[in-house]
Amino acid sequence: MRIPDALDDEIAAVLGSGSLGVEVAAFGPGLTELRVYLPSEQDAGVWRERAAHVLSAHGIPAEAFALAIDPVADGRWVERWQATLAPIPLGGRFVVLATEAAFGHGGREPIRLIPGMAFGTGEHETTRLCATAVEQQVTSGSRWLDLGTGTGLLAIVAAKCGASRVLAVDTDPEAVAVASEVLAANAAGDAVEVRVGSIDERRGETFDGVVANIQSSFFIANAGAIAAALVNGGVLIASGFLVDDVEEIAAALSATSFRVEARASEGPWACLLARRGAR
Ligand code: SAH
Repeated sequence: MRIPDALDDEIAAVLGSGSLGVEVAAFGPGLTELRVYLPSEQDAGVWRERAAHVLSAHGIPAEAFALAIDPVADGRWVERWQATLAPIPLGGRFVVLATEAAFGHGGREPIRLIPGMAFGTGEHETTRLCATAVEQQVTSGSRWLDLGTGTGLLAIVAAKCGASRVLAVDTDPEAVAVASEVLAANAAGDAVEVRVGSIDERRGETFDGVVANIQSSFFIANAGAIAAALVNGGVLIASGFLVDDVEEIAAALSATSFRVEARASEGPWACLLARRGAR
């Protein structure tokens, strides 16, 4: 379907939840083409309705846009999707590939992705902001917690940068299944353990670093619990929220034992780096 590009993030997010995947491609001036991959053709009407709902919430009549969903005839959508995913540079050191890992992508180290139902292809600004910070913060032999691991991408980056142990958790069992597969495909299984759950799943273990790419409400509700998961001097890389929400999250973190050390953004998306101090 074709939609106004100002709404592409919002509509892709709405269509992404519960679908097998959403592909975003520039279409023409002001227009973005979204391709949504669904488990069955009958569902198409529901997804069209969802997109129309976002448009009307912005006062745009849905009739003005081509919201048709064209079925992929042969059902080989996974292969098609994999074939269309271009290599995605991640941080300063990696490139995400949807196909068999190969060398020679501008000298970058490949991370192989198996597109599935989980978020985290490396295309999203928040994933990229986190990956860059993880690359800069992971020291050899350090221990990391990846909260909301999705496809496991950030846990793999941490392991490849030298972390000796990464605990990756996600409340979505589907994401954990995808992450396990992706970890195996990248031979990162030794350093990384994946569990279904959230911050409590650390079971008392503490870490040198936490990376969390989750919605803003998570940080506001869990600032204290995140601090407790870190050793003194440990670092939190937080993203998944908008620049507009940064002050509120920084305040929630500062109210516990965190000192906010750096802020970064890409488009409307923000990333915070905060260090746990002694209290
Ligand atoms: N880390 C990946 C994926 C981020 S998407 C990346 O950066 O690309 C956010 C993920 O967090 C989703 O997979 C979602 O299932 C998970 N999630 C949402 N709320 C959570 C919570 N409270 N605890 C743990 N995981 C959560």
